Amino acid sequence: QPIVAIVGRPNVGKSTLFNRLVGKRVALVDDRPGVTRDRRTGDGQLLGLEFQVMDTAGFEDEDPASLPGRMRRSTEAAVREADAALFLIDAREGVTPLDEEIARWLRQEDTPVIVAANKAEGRQGESGRLEAFSLGFGEPIALSAEHGEGLVDLFESLRPHVEREVEVEPELDHEDPMRPLHLAVVGRPNAGKSTLVNKMLGEDRMITGPEAGITRDSISTDWTWTSPDGGTRQVKLVDTAGLRKRAKVDDKLEWLSAQDTRRAIDMAEVVVLLLDATRGLEVQDLKIASAVIEEGRALVVAINKWDVAEHASSLFNGVKAALEEGLSQLKNVPVLTVSAVTGKGIDQLIGAAFTLREGWNRRVSTGELNRWFEAAVEQNPPPAPGGKRIKLRYITQIKSRPPTFVVFGTRVDQLPESYRRYLLNSLRKQFDLGAVPLRMTLRATKN
Ligand code: GDP
Repeated sequence: QPIVAIVGRPNVGKSTLFNRLVGKRVALVDDRPGVTRDRRTGDGQLLGLEFQVMDTAGFEDEDPASLPGRMRRSTEAAVREADAALFLIDAREGVTPLDEEIARWLRQEDTPVIVAANKAEGRQGESGRLEAFSLGFGEPIALSAEHGEGLVDLFESLRPHVEREVEVEPELDHEDPMRPLHLAVVGRPNAGKSTLVNKMLGEDRMITGPEAGITRDSISTDWTWTSPDGGTRQVKLVDTAGLRKRAKVDDKLEWLSAQDTRRAIDMAEVVVLLLDATRGLEVQDLKIASAVIEEGRALVVAINKWDVAEHASSLFNGVKAALEEGLSQLKNVPVLTVSAVTGKGIDQLIGAAFTLREGWNRRVSTGELNRWFEAAVEQNPPPAPGGKRIKLRYITQIKSRPPTFVVFGTRVDQLPESYRRYLLNSLRKQFDLGAVPLRMTLRATKN
């Protein structure tokens, strides 16, 4: 993980910033021999950027005479390990001689330095911030670690130095086909989950039917799927033990099954929601589908018992329509038909699940993303509530699994939900993300 070192003289707010970035997560004191006791590191997070934060605080009680020497050693050691140094000054006091001294040390290092003028809440300390230009590290950002102001500017300055994961996209774009697909089969009792899993595994590892109650007690089952073109791929069927409990249905087990469903969703990358063709889509199915999307898992709906389905095409269309009405995110979810008894449709189902996972793992490069973004915003500009146009500046993908995006702009709190959906749909089309659940949040910038 990339490392960000916070440096600066005593009392400029290093610890406050450290705590803001690391939050409630535990900060570890670095106790390797030879490392100053004052050095702390922790898992930092800023608007979705993730990095290690290293704090060089702790000189507050030092004897002023010995301070610079010790501080220099600690600062230099931290900065040499870091991918970026955040050099804090106190915006209200402006640049002090000790700040200038620290700047001299930092200029001899190769680590990029970002100057942040702290304690600048509510535009206070603007002259101090401007003074800090003289330190020679480019434009200082105005920050209030205590009040959480200036964090977007901090994000923008840090991003090029710590966004390493996003930079190495080519490998990540191409999913390793050898990695097993974590697949869960969920659905109401008697939808045919156990029958389907048995059919996939090609042996009676689980006994199905209303009277059965004994199966192998495994959390997950590994399975080698032979695709129609003859290739093989690994599938890990998660939480197959949970299926056993569904063999006998009573109220208590119904309750248990909700627990099992949640656990299976949690462990899976792709979730198959199995419906019963003789019953169609019921409210409980929609609840499960929503839970899958909310958890950010990729979802595929399979209508089982297709071998005995009546009015097949109206049933199929009814299920699709009900899904779309249920939740806008369900609009793109693939709906397939299978028969767990005959095995028909299972290969298509697994193939669809692998395709979904590819999208779920997808990283789109910032450049590609913003070229699309500019065009999309130009083609259909955001509205101007009260005559003032909402400006959308740029977009970044902060993570995959599922793909998660942040859009930066002004007055984003007034952006209608329909516009966010427009962006999501356009993005989905542009990058072939089909039915993959996507997340998009908006963040305000100052101008
Ligand atoms: P589970 O509770 O979801 O695990 O459901 P089961 O696998 O125990 O199946 C419930 C009942 O539906 C059993 O009697 C199965 O034989 C039957 N069943 C499962 N899949 C199919 C199918 O594709 N076609 C038909 N006709 N019956 C099925």
